Amino acid sequence: MSAPSRAAGGLRPAELIQKKRDGGELTDVEISGLVLAYARDEIPDYQMAAFCMAAYFKGLSHAETHALTDAMVQSGETVDLSPLGRKVVDKHSTGGVGDKTSIALGPVVAACGVPFAKMSGRGLGHTGGTLDKLEAIPGFNVELDIESFLAQVREIGMAIIGQTAELVPADKRLYALRDVTATVDIIPLIASSIMSKKIAGGADAIVLDVKVGDGAFMKDIDSARDLAEAMRELGVRAGREVVCELTDMDQPLGQAVGNALEIREAVATLKGEGPPDLRELVLGAAMHLLTLSDLGIDAAEGRARAEGAIADGSALAVYERWIRAQGGDPDLEALPGAPVTRHVPASAGGFVQRIATTAIGEAALGLGAGRLRKEDDIDHAVGIVCVAKRGDEVGVGDVLAEIHARTEESAEAAAAEVSAAYRVGQKRPDDIPIVLDVIA
Ligand code: URA
Repeated sequence: MSAPSRAAGGLRPAELIQKKRDGGELTDVEISGLVLAYARDEIPDYQMAAFCMAAYFKGLSHAETHALTDAMVQSGETVDLSPLGRKVVDKHSTGGVGDKTSIALGPVVAACGVPFAKMSGRGLGHTGGTLDKLEAIPGFNVELDIESFLAQVREIGMAIIGQTAELVPADKRLYALRDVTATVDIIPLIASSIMSKKIAGGADAIVLDVKVGDGAFMKDIDSARDLAEAMRELGVRAGREVVCELTDMDQPLGQAVGNALEIREAVATLKGEGPPDLRELVLGAAMHLLTLSDLGIDAAEGRARAEGAIADGSALAVYERWIRAQGGDPDLEALPGAPVTRHVPASAGGFVQRIATTAIGEAALGLGAGRLRKEDDIDHAVGIVCVAKRGDEVGVGDVLAEIHARTEESAEAAAAEVSAAYRVGQKRPDDIPIVLDVIA
């Protein structure tokens, strides 16, 4: 590493940290100097960590957040989707438990004639990542170069690939640093991290799914709304059309949590047989993306076309073409299965009032479905199926959930955790819709 003393736009990083610590506002030049020098490895982690902590306590202004996002985008390459000659759409979720929405959404949108080009990430902690789920499919390749990515979107109508190393390298370093310095959960840093990647990814119109509740970053609707507004503003400022949906993460999405299990559920949704909350989320997001697209249709027509693509099998046909195009086998029989399955029975009768979502995510993690550290391997076969969802009535001994495990011991441990995550009581809980609000 070269000398850190004057790396940030000619200023000493320590002076910038002090300015933020004392509640000052950094200029665009100062922010971009800091971020770009950090991306070039000219500023050590300890100084950037101190800056993030100062930002955590003092916040970042709109102008600072804009400058941060611009600098993150500038730190690497950007994808030019204009050779496709179409308005291209993308979707991003802030992360939840059982969130396989994109895997069903992409084929629905593409079957309606709208190009869907998504770069995705891996899961860390109790939330899963779309790439990990896709890699449960034997042969599926997430590492396409940009040329192949564009060619596939042109031919098949969609692609979902991993972010290339050249895309927003500043975020890669910064996110890893924030992850270990307790500075992830600050709205301007989350907003600029997500939006820099979406902006660099090149799509013209984006639906952002901001999860709210126990299993999400944002635990309450007000902070989710603040994050949604911050992200939307960054997108609009960069010339993108953005619709944010605030969606419920106070229980796992759908029933399946775990990679191969989630692929099965996404495919069931494409066959019109998926769980109602997932189906609704997919149809709602498809409606927004089709409305934003260059088809020139309104929301009602967008919704009708999305429903039609599931009903007539065209979305499922796109799914199969897409999986084959990226080297995978779309046959569900090819997915790995876990050797041990075990039921979690209800110990009391009544209504499912609550499913502690983070606890379910952590139980899946304990089975091996996710990773605690970036370098951990994951077991694509294992996971949990939440058979009973909030509001369902169960009798003593009815199945609340199914555990899919590698060993008897891990199944037993997960069964105890899942049992504790369910609360069954006499009162039927109020219905909570999957989409809590839309910010457009
Ligand atoms: N996801 C991201 O990509 N970045 C964050 O900061 C938080 C969630």
